[in-house]
Amino acid sequence: MSRPVVALVGRTNVGKSTLLNRILGERHAVVDDSPNVTRDRLIVPVTWGGRDILVVDTGGWGLDAVSELQLKVKHQAELAIAQADVIMLVVAAYDGVIPSDQEAVSMVRAAGKKCVLVVNKVDHALHESLVSDFHRLGVDSVVSVSALHNRGIDELMDAVVAKLPPAEPPASYPEGSIRLAIVGRPNAGKSTLLNALLNDERAIVDATPGTTRDPLDAELVWQGRRLVLVDTAGIRKKSHVTYGVDYFSVLRALQAIDRCDVAILVLDATEPATAQDVTIARYVREAGRGLVLVVNKWDLVPPDHRDAHRDWMKRKLDFLSFVPLLHVSAKERRHVKSVLQKAFEVSRAREMRLSRTAVDAAIKESVERHAPPMSGTRRLDIVWAHQDDVETWKFVLHVNDPALVPSNYPRYLEHDLRRQFGFHGVPLLFEFVPAGRRPRRKEAAA
Ligand code: GDP
Repeated sequence: MSRPVVALVGRTNVGKSTLLNRILGERHAVVDDSPNVTRDRLIVPVTWGGRDILVVDTGGWGLDAVSELQLKVKHQAELAIAQADVIMLVVAAYDGVIPSDQEAVSMVRAAGKKCVLVVNKVDHALHESLVSDFHRLGVDSVVSVSALHNRGIDELMDAVVAKLPPAEPPASYPEGSIRLAIVGRPNAGKSTLLNALLNDERAIVDATPGTTRDPLDAELVWQGRRLVLVDTAGIRKKSHVTYGVDYFSVLRALQAIDRCDVAILVLDATEPATAQDVTIARYVREAGRGLVLVVNKWDLVPPDHRDAHRDWMKRKLDFLSFVPLLHVSAKERRHVKSVLQKAFEVSRAREMRLSRTAVDAAIKESVERHAPPMSGTRRLDIVWAHQDDVETWKFVLHVNDPALVPSNYPRYLEHDLRRQFGFHGVPLLFEFVPAGRRPRRKEAAA
């Protein structure tokens, strides 16, 4: 199921981005030393109370914009509200209730959305008295926080989770099928590629009896294997919205990625590797999905520019050096067949399961090739390691002290495991946990 969306709405300067960073900082436990992971994103995945959600900052779409911008800005806020499951309406304690807060509450009500009113900048218990005034806005859930001083964040997340729609049972897919998501910016050529792929593979199939197909998806058989193309409806639906279209396309992409095994990220050769492309690629990496990069509209790049283009892309996307990079022309149907072939290979690599003995031996070899540097008088000792049973792209390393992990060591391990096993197109994550008792063989059987 796609993650529910929680939108941060409020005027500028009420502290939305500080709040988002606080939520991200506290709840984002995945170890990732990728240099491109920044802390100032607009859409962040968060797990709280057993629920996976996407928290989005509506950024500068405050409700207090002036003059000719006002309508546009209001329109954007309305769109963000329409797209979200729960609204965190952020206000600032010291400002008291002002007309635009009332307007925002009316907007949320008109959209029929659930809302948590977040009174921010309550930096001290003495300031709690400022909160009572906000009850007259008539929002049933009011939480006071200080994003800056980390007060009340747990209570806030509890209140938000309590308002989420109940978790839906996930769509069930035919045994052994591969779920692919074609994602990318508007106009990159996703629907042209989709049509090229579907035309080549006319065998679109009905849902297998006993499975529940998501109505947005398409199923097809390719070389004897069932493929599910996630959110084909979203790829075909052209947006008539102009404001905030980037935001919605990214949001839709992230939700499709949540439902896939392998993401096919389509880049426009004439405008490659924009911030949006990088945001989507990072999310694929953090979600542990396989990835294939497809540079489309290759026909528009003059042949004598192609080598320079390839080099430039490699440098720009160096954090994705493990990912297959294909150059195609969806319009002219050139090389489109290789897209499914690569996606299939990445899916196979992602399904690779290694025994505990194999992982242990591989990590031992990596450490022998390059031992972790000393940290003061101590050194990281990896006692044993295994691949997670369910999230196969995750390796759990049982160590003497997780605080001793050098910041670039996970990157080295990732690189070295790829040298040993391939894992082409599959992001690898490492979790360092304190080594307890070494389990007996039977318990540890992979
Ligand atoms: P989407 O928004 O990502 O689904 O993009 P579309 O598939 O609708 O394509 C956007 C525009 O790019 C359309 O005008 C397509 O004809 C054009 N286009 C798509 N793929 C190619 C390609 O390989 N080469 C060229 N020259 N144009 C393409």
